Amino acid sequence: MPELGEVEIARKHLQSWWTDAASTFHLIDAKVLKSGEPADLERQISQTPRAFKRRGKQLWVEFADGPHLAFHFRMTGQIVRTTSPEERFSRIAWQVGDSWLHFVDPRRFGYVEVWTDSERDAALAKLGPDPHAADPKLMREKAGARQLKAALLDQSVIAGVGNIAFIEVMWRLGLHPEIKGSQLSKAEWSRLIQAFVDFFDEVVERDFSPEQGRIDYVNTGGTNPFEIYQQDQCPKCSGGIERLVQGGRSTYFCPRCQRSGRR
Ligand SMILES: [Zn+2]
Repeated sequence: MPELGEVEIARKHLQSWWTDAASTFHLIDAKVLKSGEPADLERQISQTPRAFKRRGKQLWVEFADGPHLAFHFRMTGQIVRTTSPEERFSRIAWQVGDSWLHFVDPRRFGYVEVWTDSERDAALAKLGPDPHAADPKLMREKAGARQLKAALLDQSVIAGVGNIAFIEVMWRLGLHPEIKGSQLSKAEWSRLIQAFVDFFDEVVERDFSPEQGRIDYVNTGGTNPFEIYQQDQCPKCSGGIERLVQGGRSTYFCPRCQRSGRR
């Protein structure tokens, strides 16, 4: 499932691939367009984009003229570049030069919106800052007495953190996954936020390549590059990884290495 790192890769991919106005446009699955009209989508895609932007997991494209185009990837959505107008699970296809760009989404929870300025501003107002722009003091206040997982996956507190980033970062810092935000000092909040910045930077560094036409998500059959997520053995102590369910989502953790804040 795409989190901040994967969406940043999609942004960088679009920036390097979508360098000209699209010459051909196919709306393959009309249900992908959640707001706006197909004609608006076609008109925007037929322009050269001016800017590729992202906040958290939200990616949008701005044009010199007219509304913006927002991509919501949800479970399995992504942008893929091929040389063919046909692509498995493609919902929108557009041709740029010799390449075809596809919004591919096997599970079909993703969608696209055509945004006016005020719709864009309203959507962004619901999102907290990216980790690199987050203020530890404010984060601590917003998290309150909630468990860290609930607070950090709340996109209005901090934008872009998902289940995998949470699992990996808590393990790196030796924090028990059930720790509450109020149990961390301001200095610990600073370290926590920096750990998310580092984690997402590493994802982009590892997986971004403009030549490669797609990336694989671990939930769509890609290899698992993570140290704790869906793993059996802790790389630090070689003990067994355990799993608990928080808010309906599985959290993997090492009970020996993650004792800080244990209830
Ligand atoms: Zn361990």
